[in-house]
Amino acid sequence: MSSKLESLQLRYEEAKAKNLDLDMRRGKPGSEQLDLTLPMLDLVTSSDYKTAAGADTRNYGGIDGIPEMKTFFKEFLEVSSEDEVIVGGNSSLNLMHDTVARAMSHGVVGSELPWSKLGKVKFLCPSPGYDRHFSVCQHFGIEMITVDMTPEGPDCDQIEKLVAEDDSIKGIWVVPKYSNPTGITCSEEVVSRLAKMTTAATDFRIFWDNAYSVHHLADEGYQLANIFELCKAANTLDRVFIYGSSSKISFAGSGVAAMAGSKANMDWMKGHLSMSTIGPDKINQVRHMRFFKDFDGLKSHMKKHAEIIKPKFDTVIEVLEAELGGKGVATWTKPNGGYFISLDTNEGCAKRVVELADAVGVKLTGAGATFPYKNDPKDSNIRLAPTFPSIDEIRQAMEVVCLCVELADAEK
Ligand code: PMP
Repeated sequence: MSSKLESLQLRYEEAKAKNLDLDMRRGKPGSEQLDLTLPMLDLVTSSDYKTAAGADTRNYGGIDGIPEMKTFFKEFLEVSSEDEVIVGGNSSLNLMHDTVARAMSHGVVGSELPWSKLGKVKFLCPSPGYDRHFSVCQHFGIEMITVDMTPEGPDCDQIEKLVAEDDSIKGIWVVPKYSNPTGITCSEEVVSRLAKMTTAATDFRIFWDNAYSVHHLADEGYQLANIFELCKAANTLDRVFIYGSSSKISFAGSGVAAMAGSKANMDWMKGHLSMSTIGPDKINQVRHMRFFKDFDGLKSHMKKHAEIIKPKFDTVIEVLEAELGGKGVATWTKPNGGYFISLDTNEGCAKRVVELADAVGVKLTGAGATFPYKNDPKDSNIRLAPTFPSIDEIRQAMEVVCLCVELADAEK
Protein backbone atom coordinates (compact mmCIF):
# COMPACT_ATOMS: atom_id res chain seq x y z
CA MET A 1 0.00 0.00 0.00
CA SER A 2 1.32 3.46 -0.90
CA SER A 3 2.23 5.76 1.96
CA LYS A 4 -0.19 8.36 0.54
CA LEU A 5 -3.09 5.93 0.76
CA GLU A 6 -2.02 4.92 4.26
CA SER A 7 -1.90 8.50 5.50
CA LEU A 8 -5.30 9.25 3.93
CA GLN A 9 -6.75 6.19 5.63
CA LEU A 10 -5.31 7.29 8.93
CA ARG A 11 -6.91 10.73 8.56
CA TYR A 12 -10.16 9.03 7.60
CA GLU A 13 -10.10 6.93 10.79
CA GLU A 14 -9.49 10.10 12.79
CA ALA A 15 -12.49 11.75 11.15
CA LYS A 16 -14.60 8.69 11.97
CA ALA A 17 -13.72 9.02 15.64
CA LYS A 18 -15.30 12.49 15.71
CA ASN A 19 -18.81 10.99 15.39
CA LEU A 20 -19.99 13.74 13.06
CA ASP A 21 -23.61 14.23 12.08
CA LEU A 22 -23.61 16.65 9.15
CA ASP A 23 -25.79 17.04 6.07
CA MET A 24 -24.95 18.72 2.76
CA ARG A 25 -27.96 17.29 0.91
CA ARG A 26 -30.72 19.74 1.56
CA GLY A 27 -31.29 22.46 -1.04
CA LYS A 28 -33.51 24.37 1.31
CA PRO A 29 -33.32 27.78 2.94
CA GLY A 30 -31.72 28.03 6.38
CA SER A 31 -33.82 29.34 9.27
CA GLU A 32 -32.07 32.74 9.14
CA GLN A 33 -33.39 33.12 5.60
CA LEU A 34 -36.87 32.03 6.61
CA ASP A 35 -36.83 34.57 9.44
CA LEU A 36 -36.54 37.37 6.87
CA THR A 37 -40.12 36.89 5.74
CA LEU A 38 -41.70 36.15 9.12
CA PRO A 39 -43.35 39.62 9.29
CA MET A 40 -45.45 38.47 6.34
CA LEU A 41 -47.46 36.34 8.74
CA ASP A 42 -48.75 39.45 10.50
CA LEU A 43 -49.85 41.25 7.36
CA VAL A 44 -53.19 39.49 6.94
CA THR A 45 -55.45 39.74 9.96
CA SER A 46 -59.01 38.83 10.84
CA SER A 47 -60.08 42.34 9.94
CA ASP A 48 -57.82 42.94 6.95
CA TYR A 49 -57.62 40.24 4.29
CA LYS A 50 -58.83 41.82 1.05
CA THR A 51 -57.03 42.25 -2.26
CA ALA A 52 -55.77 45.66 -3.39
CA ALA A 53 -59.09 46.19 -5.17
CA GLY A 54 -61.04 45.18 -2.06
CA ALA A 55 -62.11 41.67 -3.14
CA ASP A 56 -62.86 39.12 -0.42
CA THR A 57 -60.11 36.48 -0.44
CA ARG A 58 -61.84 34.07 1.91
CA ASN A 59 -64.07 32.46 -0.64
CA TYR A 60 -63.70 30.26 -3.71
CA GLY A 61 -62.67 31.66 -7.06
CA GLY A 62 -59.88 33.41 -8.91
CA ILE A 63 -58.48 30.26 -10.44
CA ASP A 64 -55.45 32.01 -11.92
CA GLY A 65 -54.61 34.30 -8.99
CA ILE A 66 -55.47 37.72 -7.57
CA PRO A 67 -54.82 40.59 -10.02
CA GLU A 68 -51.81 42.12 -8.25
CA MET A 69 -50.10 38.73 -7.94
CA LYS A 70 -50.63 38.11 -11.66
CA THR A 71 -48.98 41.45 -12.42
CA PHE A 72 -46.14 40.54 -10.06
CA PHE A 73 -45.51 37.20 -11.81
CA LYS A 74 -45.90 38.80 -15.23
CA GLU A 75 -42.71 40.70 -14.38
CA PHE A 76 -41.07 37.81 -12.53
CA LEU A 77 -41.58 35.37 -15.40
CA GLU A 78 -41.04 38.08 -18.04
CA VAL A 79 -44.14 37.80 -20.19
CA SER A 80 -46.12 40.66 -21.64
CA SER A 81 -49.62 40.39 -20.20
CA GLU A 82 -51.50 39.07 -17.20
CA ASP A 83 -53.40 36.74 -19.57
CA GLU A 84 -50.11 34.90 -19.99
CA VAL A 85 -49.83 34.06 -16.28
CA ILE A 86 -51.43 31.53 -13.95
CA VAL A 87 -50.74 31.85 -10.24
CA GLY A 88 -50.96 28.42 -8.63
CA GLY A 89 -50.53 27.02 -5.15
CA ASN A 90 -47.29 26.81 -3.22
CA SER A 91 -45.26 24.65 -5.58
CA SER A 92 -43.94 25.13 -9.10
CA LEU A 93 -42.99 21.45 -9.22
CA ASN A 94 -46.67 20.75 -8.75
CA LEU A 95 -47.48 22.93 -11.79
CA MET A 96 -44.77 21.20 -13.85
CA HIS A 97 -45.98 17.76 -12.83
CA ASP A 98 -49.58 18.69 -13.65
CA THR A 99 -48.61 20.11 -17.04
CA VAL A 100 -46.90 16.84 -17.95
CA ALA A 101 -49.80 14.82 -16.52
CA ARG A 102 -52.33 16.73 -18.65
CA ALA A 103 -50.16 16.48 -21.74
CA MET A 104 -50.08 12.72 -21.19
CA SER A 105 -53.80 12.40 -20.54
CA HIS A 106 -55.13 14.95 -23.06
CA GLY A 107 -52.28 16.33 -25.18
CA VAL A 108 -51.22 19.98 -25.34
CA VAL A 109 -52.37 22.73 -27.72
CA GLY A 110 -51.60 21.39 -31.19
CA SER A 111 -51.37 17.70 -30.21
CA GLU A 112 -53.08 15.21 -32.48
CA LEU A 113 -53.32 12.68 -29.67
CA PRO A 114 -52.76 12.63 -25.91
CA TRP A 115 -49.06 11.87 -25.45
CA SER A 116 -49.89 8.68 -23.55
CA LYS A 117 -51.61 7.31 -26.68
CA LEU A 118 -48.39 7.52 -28.68
CA GLY A 119 -46.15 4.48 -28.71
CA LYS A 120 -43.30 6.32 -27.04
CA VAL A 121 -42.75 9.72 -25.47
CA LYS A 122 -39.25 11.03 -24.87
CA PHE A 123 -37.85 14.08 -23.07
CA LEU A 124 -34.41 15.59 -23.35
CA CYS A 125 -32.75 15.94 -19.96
CA PRO A 126 -29.72 18.22 -19.83
CA SER A 127 -27.53 16.72 -17.12
CA PRO A 128 -26.39 17.10 -14.45
CA GLY A 129 -29.86 18.45 -13.73
CA TYR A 130 -32.69 18.58 -11.22
CA ASP A 131 -33.56 15.08 -9.99
CA ARG A 132 -37.27 15.82 -9.52
CA HIS A 133 -37.67 16.70 -13.20
CA PHE A 134 -36.34 13.26 -13.97
CA SER A 135 -38.66 11.66 -11.41
CA VAL A 136 -41.67 13.26 -13.14
CA CYS A 137 -40.60 11.66 -16.44
CA GLN A 138 -40.04 8.30 -14.82
CA HIS A 139 -43.41 8.49 -13.07
CA PHE A 140 -45.20 8.85 -16.42
CA GLY A 141 -43.05 6.35 -18.31
CA ILE A 142 -41.42 9.07 -20.41
CA GLU A 143 -38.08 7.94 -21.80
CA MET A 144 -35.26 10.26 -20.84
CA ILE A 145 -32.41 11.14 -23.16
CA THR A 146 -29.39 12.64 -21.43
CA VAL A 147 -28.01 15.77 -23.06
CA ASP A 148 -24.71 17.34 -21.97
CA MET A 149 -24.48 20.64 -20.14
CA THR A 150 -21.89 23.05 -21.51
CA PRO A 151 -20.70 26.20 -19.71
CA GLU A 152 -23.28 28.04 -21.88
CA GLY A 153 -26.23 25.81 -21.01
CA PRO A 154 -27.61 22.61 -22.58
CA ASP A 155 -25.67 21.41 -25.63
CA CYS A 156 -27.68 22.79 -28.56
CA ASP A 157 -25.77 20.84 -31.21
CA GLN A 158 -27.00 17.61 -29.63
CA ILE A 159 -30.48 18.99 -29.00
CA GLU A 160 -31.10 20.38 -32.49
CA LYS A 161 -30.09 17.10 -34.10
CA LEU A 162 -32.25 14.97 -31.79
CA VAL A 163 -35.44 17.08 -31.99
CA ALA A 164 -35.19 17.44 -35.76
CA GLU A 165 -35.04 13.67 -36.29
CA ASP A 166 -37.37 12.18 -33.73
CA ASP A 167 -41.03 13.22 -33.42
CA SER A 168 -41.45 11.20 -30.22
CA ILE A 169 -39.26 13.76 -28.41
CA LYS A 170 -41.95 15.97 -26.90
CA GLY A 171 -40.12 18.02 -24.35
CA ILE A 172 -36.98 19.27 -22.68
CA TRP A 173 -36.32 20.37 -19.11
CA VAL A 174 -34.25 23.52 -18.73
CA VAL A 175 -33.25 25.35 -15.53
CA PRO A 176 -32.01 28.38 -17.44
CA LYS A 177 -30.47 30.45 -14.68
CA TYR A 178 -28.07 29.35 -11.94
CA SER A 179 -29.04 25.83 -12.88
CA ASN A 180 -29.50 23.07 -10.33
CA PRO A 181 -26.81 21.81 -9.70
CA THR A 182 -24.18 23.45 -11.92
CA GLY A 183 -25.10 27.11 -11.41
CA ILE A 184 -24.82 27.66 -15.17
CA THR A 185 -26.88 30.41 -16.85
CA CYS A 186 -27.89 29.83 -20.47
CA SER A 187 -26.19 32.15 -22.94
CA GLU A 188 -28.28 34.26 -25.29
CA GLU A 189 -27.25 31.99 -28.16
CA VAL A 190 -28.56 28.90 -26.35
CA VAL A 191 -31.88 30.56 -25.51
CA SER A 192 -32.26 31.77 -29.06
CA ARG A 193 -31.42 28.36 -30.58
CA LEU A 194 -33.96 26.63 -28.32
CA ALA A 195 -36.61 29.13 -29.39
CA LYS A 196 -35.82 28.79 -33.10
CA MET A 197 -34.90 25.15 -33.61
CA THR A 198 -36.94 22.97 -35.91
CA THR A 199 -38.66 20.13 -34.11
CA ALA A 200 -40.11 17.02 -35.73
CA ALA A 201 -42.87 17.00 -33.08
CA THR A 202 -45.33 19.81 -33.81
CA ASP A 203 -46.34 19.87 -30.14
CA PHE A 204 -42.83 19.99 -28.65
CA ARG A 205 -42.57 21.88 -25.33
CA ILE A 206 -39.72 23.51 -23.41
CA PHE A 207 -40.25 23.27 -19.65
CA TRP A 208 -38.41 26.45 -18.64
CA ASP A 209 -38.01 26.10 -14.90
CA ASN A 210 -36.69 29.48 -13.85
CA ALA A 211 -36.56 28.51 -10.18
CA TYR A 212 -33.48 30.63 -9.42
CA SER A 213 -34.08 33.70 -11.58
CA VAL A 214 -33.56 36.21 -8.76
CA HIS A 215 -31.19 34.19 -6.59
CA HIS A 216 -27.97 36.10 -7.25
CA LEU A 217 -24.91 35.68 -5.08
CA ALA A 218 -23.04 38.58 -6.64
CA ASP A 219 -24.30 42.16 -6.92
CA GLU A 220 -24.62 42.08 -10.66
CA GLY A 221 -26.56 38.95 -11.47
CA TYR A 222 -26.23 37.27 -14.83
CA GLN A 223 -28.70 38.36 -17.46
CA LEU A 224 -30.84 35.72 -19.07
CA ALA A 225 -32.29 36.26 -22.53
CA ASN A 226 -36.09 36.35 -22.61
CA ILE A 227 -37.25 33.06 -24.10
CA PHE A 228 -40.83 34.26 -24.39
CA GLU A 229 -39.84 37.18 -26.64
CA LEU A 230 -37.46 35.00 -28.65
CA CYS A 231 -40.20 32.40 -29.20
CA LYS A 232 -42.61 35.17 -30.18
CA ALA A 233 -40.12 36.40 -32.77
CA ALA A 234 -39.51 32.85 -34.04
CA ASN A 235 -43.24 32.13 -34.26
CA THR A 236 -42.94 29.32 -31.71
CA LEU A 237 -44.78 30.97 -28.83
CA ASP A 238 -46.72 27.86 -27.83
CA ARG A 239 -43.43 25.99 -27.43
CA VAL A 240 -42.55 27.27 -23.99
CA PHE A 241 -44.01 26.80 -20.49
CA ILE A 242 -42.27 29.04 -17.95
CA TYR A 243 -42.31 28.29 -14.20
CA GLY A 244 -41.19 29.98 -11.01
CA SER A 245 -42.06 30.31 -7.35
CA SER A 246 -41.23 32.14 -4.16
CA SER A 247 -40.30 28.89 -2.40
CA LYS A 248 -36.70 29.95 -1.82
CA ILE A 249 -37.68 33.58 -1.37
CA SER A 250 -40.46 33.55 1.22
CA PHE A 251 -41.21 30.12 2.72
CA ALA A 252 -40.18 26.89 1.01
CA GLY A 253 -43.40 25.16 2.02
CA SER A 254 -45.76 28.13 1.87
CA GLY A 255 -44.64 30.30 -0.99
CA VAL A 256 -46.52 31.14 -4.16
CA ALA A 257 -45.85 29.44 -7.51
CA ALA A 258 -46.82 30.52 -11.01
CA MET A 259 -46.50 29.53 -14.63
CA ALA A 260 -46.56 31.58 -17.80
CA GLY A 261 -46.81 31.09 -21.53
CA SER A 262 -48.89 31.97 -24.58
CA LYS A 263 -52.53 32.81 -23.95
CA ALA A 264 -53.46 29.62 -25.81
CA ASN A 265 -51.28 27.57 -23.44
CA MET A 266 -52.65 29.33 -20.37
CA ASP A 267 -56.27 28.82 -21.51
CA TRP A 268 -55.44 25.13 -22.04
CA MET A 269 -53.94 24.90 -18.54
CA LYS A 270 -56.84 26.78 -16.92
CA GLY A 271 -59.30 24.41 -18.55
CA HIS A 272 -57.56 21.47 -16.94
CA LEU A 273 -56.89 23.26 -13.66
CA SER A 274 -60.58 23.95 -13.20
CA MET A 275 -61.14 20.18 -13.10
CA SER A 276 -58.88 19.82 -10.08
CA THR A 277 -59.39 22.99 -8.03
CA ILE A 278 -61.85 25.84 -7.57
CA GLY A 279 -59.01 28.19 -6.86
CA PRO A 280 -55.67 28.72 -5.11
CA ASP A 281 -54.90 30.11 -1.63
CA LYS A 282 -55.62 33.80 -2.22
CA ILE A 283 -55.00 34.76 1.40
CA ASN A 284 -51.38 33.68 1.01
CA GLN A 285 -51.17 35.71 -2.18
CA VAL A 286 -52.36 38.84 -0.32
CA ARG A 287 -49.76 38.17 2.38
CA HIS A 288 -47.01 37.96 -0.24
CA MET A 289 -48.12 41.09 -2.10
CA ARG A 290 -48.32 43.15 1.08
CA PHE A 291 -44.84 42.05 2.08
CA PHE A 292 -43.00 42.46 -1.25
CA LYS A 293 -45.27 45.21 -2.65
CA ASP A 294 -43.97 44.67 -6.17
CA PHE A 295 -41.27 42.87 -8.14
CA ASP A 296 -38.68 45.53 -7.27
CA GLY A 297 -39.43 44.88 -3.60
CA LEU A 298 -38.70 41.21 -4.15
CA LYS A 299 -35.46 41.93 -5.97
CA SER A 300 -34.15 44.05 -3.13
CA HIS A 301 -35.25 41.42 -0.62
CA MET A 302 -33.04 38.88 -2.41
CA LYS A 303 -29.96 40.91 -1.49
CA LYS A 304 -30.63 39.97 2.15
CA HIS A 305 -30.65 36.29 1.18
CA ALA A 306 -27.34 36.73 -0.65
CA GLU A 307 -25.79 38.31 2.44
CA ILE A 308 -26.71 35.21 4.43
CA ILE A 309 -25.83 32.49 1.94
CA LYS A 310 -22.84 33.92 0.05
CA PRO A 311 -20.47 33.28 2.99
CA LYS A 312 -21.71 29.67 3.01
CA PHE A 313 -20.92 29.22 -0.69
CA ASP A 314 -17.56 30.95 -0.14
CA THR A 315 -16.75 28.49 2.67
CA VAL A 316 -17.37 25.49 0.40
CA ILE A 317 -15.16 26.94 -2.34
CA GLU A 318 -12.49 27.97 0.17
CA VAL A 319 -12.20 24.45 1.63
CA LEU A 320 -12.26 22.86 -1.84
CA GLU A 321 -9.46 25.14 -3.00
CA ALA A 322 -7.39 24.67 0.14
CA GLU A 323 -7.77 20.88 0.27
CA LEU A 324 -8.04 19.82 -3.36
CA GLY A 325 -6.68 22.74 -5.41
CA GLY A 326 -4.04 21.62 -7.91
CA LYS A 327 -4.29 17.94 -6.93
CA GLY A 328 -6.06 16.82 -10.10
CA VAL A 329 -8.68 14.80 -8.22
CA ALA A 330 -11.73 17.01 -8.75
CA THR A 331 -13.18 20.15 -10.31
CA TRP A 332 -16.04 22.29 -9.02
CA THR A 333 -18.31 25.12 -10.05
CA LYS A 334 -18.20 28.63 -8.56
CA PRO A 335 -21.76 29.74 -9.14
CA ASN A 336 -22.93 33.34 -9.18
CA GLY A 337 -26.33 32.34 -7.90
CA GLY A 338 -28.74 29.53 -7.16
CA TYR A 339 -28.57 26.92 -4.43
CA PHE A 340 -25.87 24.44 -5.35
CA ILE A 341 -22.23 23.78 -6.06
CA SER A 342 -21.44 20.93 -8.40
CA LEU A 343 -18.38 18.83 -7.60
CA ASP A 344 -16.91 16.52 -10.24
CA THR A 345 -14.50 13.85 -9.09
CA ASN A 346 -12.35 11.86 -11.48
CA GLU A 347 -14.35 9.17 -13.29
CA GLY A 348 -15.63 6.32 -11.19
CA CYS A 349 -15.23 7.96 -7.77
CA ALA A 350 -18.48 9.75 -6.90
CA LYS A 351 -20.39 6.77 -5.48
CA ARG A 352 -17.40 5.82 -3.36
CA VAL A 353 -17.03 9.39 -2.05
CA VAL A 354 -20.68 9.49 -0.97
CA GLU A 355 -20.30 6.10 0.69
CA LEU A 356 -17.09 7.07 2.50
CA ALA A 357 -18.57 10.37 3.68
CA ASP A 358 -21.73 8.69 4.90
CA ALA A 359 -19.73 6.26 7.03
CA VAL A 360 -18.08 9.24 8.75
CA GLY A 361 -21.39 10.99 9.43
CA VAL A 362 -21.51 13.41 6.46
CA LYS A 363 -24.58 12.95 4.28
CA LEU A 364 -24.32 13.87 0.61
CA THR A 365 -26.89 13.73 -2.19
CA GLY A 366 -26.71 10.25 -3.72
CA ALA A 367 -24.20 10.00 -6.56
CA GLY A 368 -26.09 9.74 -9.84
CA ALA A 369 -29.13 11.68 -8.53
CA THR A 370 -28.41 14.50 -10.95
CA PHE A 371 -28.78 12.22 -14.00
CA PRO A 372 -31.76 10.42 -15.59
CA TYR A 373 -32.37 6.99 -14.05
CA LYS A 374 -29.86 8.00 -11.34
CA ASN A 375 -27.16 6.91 -13.72
CA ASP A 376 -24.18 9.21 -14.02
CA PRO A 377 -22.26 7.53 -16.85
CA LYS A 378 -18.96 8.88 -15.52
CA ASP A 379 -19.84 8.36 -11.83
CA SER A 380 -18.29 11.71 -11.08
CA ASN A 381 -20.95 14.31 -10.17
CA ILE A 382 -21.82 15.24 -6.58
CA ARG A 383 -24.31 17.99 -5.72
CA LEU A 384 -23.40 20.11 -2.70
CA ALA A 385 -26.11 22.17 -0.99
CA PRO A 386 -24.62 24.80 1.31
CA THR A 387 -27.67 26.89 2.29
CA PHE A 388 -29.04 24.93 5.24
CA PRO A 389 -26.06 24.04 7.49
CA SER A 390 -24.15 26.67 9.49
CA ILE A 391 -20.75 27.90 8.27
CA ASP A 392 -19.04 25.86 10.95
CA GLU A 393 -20.89 22.71 9.91
CA ILE A 394 -20.12 23.39 6.25
CA ARG A 395 -16.42 23.73 6.99
CA GLN A 396 -16.33 20.44 8.93
CA ALA A 397 -18.43 18.64 6.31
CA MET A 398 -16.34 19.91 3.40
CA GLU A 399 -13.10 18.88 5.06
CA VAL A 400 -14.50 15.35 5.23
CA VAL A 401 -15.76 15.52 1.64
CA CYS A 402 -12.33 16.60 0.41
CA LEU A 403 -10.65 13.82 2.36
CA CYS A 404 -13.09 11.29 0.90
CA VAL A 405 -12.44 12.58 -2.64
CA GLU A 406 -8.71 12.10 -2.18
CA LEU A 407 -9.17 8.71 -0.56
CA ALA A 408 -11.57 7.42 -3.24
CA ASP A 409 -9.15 8.59 -5.92
CA ALA A 410 -6.16 6.98 -4.22
CA GLU A 411 -8.02 3.69 -3.76
CA LYS A 412 -8.54 3.26 -7.50
N1 PMP B 1 -37.15 23.64 -9.71
C1 PMP B 1 -35.87 23.55 -9.33
C2 PMP B 1 -34.79 23.63 -10.34
C3 PMP B 1 -35.57 23.36 -7.97
O1 PMP B 1 -34.28 23.24 -7.60
C4 PMP B 1 -36.62 23.29 -7.03
C5 PMP B 1 -36.37 23.10 -5.57
N2 PMP B 1 -35.36 22.25 -5.21
C6 PMP B 1 -37.93 23.37 -7.50
C7 PMP B 1 -38.17 23.56 -8.83
C8 PMP B 1 -39.09 23.24 -6.55
O2 PMP B 1 -39.81 24.41 -6.54
P1 PMP B 1 -41.18 24.53 -5.75
O3 PMP B 1 -40.88 24.60 -4.32
O4 PMP B 1 -41.77 25.80 -6.29
O5 PMP B 1 -42.03 23.33 -6.10
